[in-house]
Amino acid sequence: MNNKGKHGERKKSYQKRNRMLLLFIILAMVLVYIICQKREDETYATTTSASIGDIIDIVESGQANVSRYIVYGTHLNLEGSLDITNPEIEDVKIAIKKASGEETLVDTTYEYENGNLSFSTLDKINKGLDLESLEETNYYVLLKVISSNEQESYYSLSNDTEYSDPIEYYTLTRNNSNNRIDIRFLTQNSASAMALSVSKIHKLPNDVYDVVIDPGHGGNDTGAISGSYEEDEIVLENGLELKKKLENLGLKVLITRDGTETDEYDTYNIYDEDGRVTMANKSGAKILISLHMNSNESDFVDGGVEVYAANNMDLTLAKTFADNIVDEADTTYSKMQTDKVENGVYVRTLEVNPNSSTFRGYKGIYDEVPYLFIIREIGGIATGAYVNGSNSSYGENIYRNSNVGVEGYLIELGYMNVNSDLRNVVNNGDLYMQAITDSINSYYKIR
Ligand SMILES: [Zn+2]
Repeated sequence: MNNKGKHGERKKSYQKRNRMLLLFIILAMVLVYIICQKREDETYATTTSASIGDIIDIVESGQANVSRYIVYGTHLNLEGSLDITNPEIEDVKIAIKKASGEETLVDTTYEYENGNLSFSTLDKINKGLDLESLEETNYYVLLKVISSNEQESYYSLSNDTEYSDPIEYYTLTRNNSNNRIDIRFLTQNSASAMALSVSKIHKLPNDVYDVVIDPGHGGNDTGAISGSYEEDEIVLENGLELKKKLENLGLKVLITRDGTETDEYDTYNIYDEDGRVTMANKSGAKILISLHMNSNESDFVDGGVEVYAANNMDLTLAKTFADNIVDEADTTYSKMQTDKVENGVYVRTLEVNPNSSTFRGYKGIYDEVPYLFIIREIGGIATGAYVNGSNSSYGENIYRNSNVGVEGYLIELGYMNVNSDLRNVVNNGDLYMQAITDSINSYYKIR
């Protein structure tokens, strides 16, 4: 009996302890749930944006009109004009101003004629304002005119473009963290101002990536062939390796094909929903790396690496890719001279007659645009993406008029028909991909 009684008491205290434990577990689960919810919320947090009232005191009464504003890669660029009389202009800048007054200046090219000042930061489409460098707060984007008597005048910007939606920009992932930047025009009565709101988030939205890797060709398109080697297979294997390496840096990476594709070429139609151009444009990524192997049927027998980029852009990163690949993968710069800008760096444009060309539906192009479709068609208006469906065999790029573009690089790793090149890429592809990874890491200061 005694024992039984004792036993019963012990049982009661067990039950009590179990109930406490259960309660504790439930509480802990609720706590974890709340924290997770909070994190989810923070992912999509809308920033508190400043109001126009904050800057009304520092700006002049006239406003500048913005005729183009573009985010290409990691940079914001704009151009526009201001009506202003007898200004005796010494210099013109774009000022990115915090509410506290602190400002960052972006160089512009400008011209003054008959009371009209035109300005542009678009000289290099991947320069301008570095969105990656902005601290977490609100900013105004203002035109700053410095007169010869050192007087400084600020003008707010109004939107004179066809773009009305704010741009949602996400900085590259560093230490599991990103900034979200909302780029928008605020209006209040007849006043207008361009503003940036920067806020920290803890996770990129599901459909937003840092980098896109595009292994060239695929499906029934093998690309170049040499003996039993096919270009599409070599670049796919390397693309998957590059994805792993960039993910090890903490970057979020999208790959345009992974080898599960069928032989139906349509699957890889570049403008289809799951086509490479559409995938890149929808990715929110800042940079795309397209991997290819070169080949030349003529008597050109030298091998080596060629990095292609858009015209009108700063080529520092392109040069970094070429230099690092030559160093780390023990290869050479290509000796090909056509379209060469620097050792290993190439820029090729369409150079078609705007009035007569129907090349791939490009009739009516008014300017030089990149020759390589992947660089051109992912850049929106920054690169003159133009395929409008008028040539039915090439489909339509619905992102051709976008003012947000992905900075594109196409890397020809080596020549399929040059034995030393082919052997080096097949055996040491890892070193090429490490060189690309190191370039991205140092250029964007990821780690
Ligand atoms: Zn190719």
